[in-house]
Amino acid sequence: MNISIDDIKNAKNQSLKIHFDNEVKNLSTEGSVVADLVFSAYGSFINAKGKIFANVKLVCDRCLKDFTKNIEVDVDETYKLGSLISNEEAHSGQEIELKDGDFVTELTGTDEVDVDDLIYQSVTLNIPNPCVCDINCNGDSEMEKYIKKEVSDPRLEVFKNLKINN
Ligand SMILES: [Zn+2]
Repeated sequence: MNISIDDIKNAKNQSLKIHFDNEVKNLSTEGSVVADLVFSAYGSFINAKGKIFANVKLVCDRCLKDFTKNIEVDVDETYKLGSLISNEEAHSGQEIELKDGDFVTELTGTDEVDVDDLIYQSVTLNIPNPCVCDINCNGDSEMEKYIKKEVSDPRLEVFKNLKINN
């Protein structure tokens, strides 16, 4: 899904609300990704704000099992318009205040915002690291077998029947 910058600028208050409910390329999810986003134009900047909900299919770092994690992302992303804007617009004095560390994506040579890409980037950046299926996950089955074997090691049986005679 692409949003035309002209559509944002021509919208009421230069603010365009969109509802996204679809699959996102390269993002493995259970069901579709849902996002409610507001795109606002501020002179030579476009700001995207909103929320993304996705059930992302992941692989556990510890047990290597597939699992699905519900990921919710608060989006607040600013795009700087590239060469496409006219001088008049660039000097309109309408500028968005950028806080330190704000991430600004330059949109050069395009008159659209790629919503799928925005969602893809936002979701993948919010996948936890390490990525585990459960906080108590003990690791893969090989490890489990090893632990069980250790507990019921026949060599240890002898201690069960050991009687201490003083
Ligand atoms: Zn696991």
